[in-house]
Amino acid sequence: MVVKVGSALLVDSRTGRVNRTWLETLIEDLLSLRERGQQVILVSSGAIALGRRQLALAPGPLRLEESQAAAAVGQIRLAHAYKELLEGRAVTVAQVLLTLEDSERRRRYLNARATLETLLSLGALPVINENDTVATAEIRYGDNDRLAARVAQMSGADCLILLSDVDGLYSADPNKDPGARFIAEVHEITPEIEAMGGRSASDVGSGGMTTKLLAARIAVSAGCHMGIAAGHHHHPIRRIEQGARCTWFLPAATPVTARKQWIAGTLRPAGAVTIDGGALRALLDGRSLLPAGVIATRGQFERGDTVSVLTPDGAEIARGIVAYSDGDAVRIMGRKSAEIQGILGFRGRDELIHRDDLVLFTRGASHACL
Ligand code: GLU
Repeated sequence: MVVKVGSALLVDSRTGRVNRTWLETLIEDLLSLRERGQQVILVSSGAIALGRRQLALAPGPLRLEESQAAAAVGQIRLAHAYKELLEGRAVTVAQVLLTLEDSERRRRYLNARATLETLLSLGALPVINENDTVATAEIRYGDNDRLAARVAQMSGADCLILLSDVDGLYSADPNKDPGARFIAEVHEITPEIEAMGGRSASDVGSGGMTTKLLAARIAVSAGCHMGIAAGHHHHPIRRIEQGARCTWFLPAATPVTARKQWIAGTLRPAGAVTIDGGALRALLDGRSLLPAGVIATRGQFERGDTVSVLTPDGAEIARGIVAYSDGDAVRIMGRKSAEIQGILGFRGRDELIHRDDLVLFTRGASHACL
């Protein structure tokens, strides 16, 4: 089980300090899960919110260097709070700070996964955050919702709970529209569901409903249930078990292979290839993408990078690991595979993206993060 807590819950907005009484009740909930034999990982925000107060930074958006500095100051306070609370209850806490590259590069992803597995098998409770001190504007998650989903995927979790300042998904913003309907269960993330993700009113955390829906997509494709629930009450996990309001995203019936989960969850594809109608039909039939069906490329990518596959009208239909760089792809696109050697001077793969390296998205579900 992976539980993610947002800054708005953890940090008291009046004092800028850790909301300790509340945190104790969360920790008690997590420990009861462990007593039942469940393995628990906590993804905790709060570093920047805690550090900015300590450094007396002015309210409002921070410059990158300021948030990096605030995170350095805040993370140590956060870790201290967890150490005190957990070790007081005889549980060893482990701090893991991840960067975007730890999930986007396959080797680093496998490495981080092995570390988490070892920590869990040794009985520690991993507390994870983004390594905000070294994360730069381009290379960062920026929100812990997607980070938590990648952690859930990486650790093979059955369930991810995002504790937030909202109690779930509504058909419209409940603060503005009295007719907004609460959505208790989501079986498929359709364009209608995606359209429901507005921004949250919270000014402390950085993830709104949009990032939660992106997180849900990553989680469900990994066969993991995901819940969004309000976390501000004491004992927020126990409350969910007792029936408190929570939107549940149900996992795909047959989770895709671990390699495909990783491809689907990539947060920043290196580039994109646009395909024609014939190639689209081939992909929908479960076949590979051949150079012949490609009509354009976008961005710079190398062989082995993950790229988006776009239909002629720009919708993202799939993602996959590409077998040629963007330069080579441009030269062989529209051509038969038998011609590759003559054009490039070497014999590479017949496919631009092999079907084993390709994940098709369900109809219409697009990645708003691109
Ligand atoms: N990693 C950031 C922090 O610890 C928070 C990101 C978020 O709120 O989602 O301050």
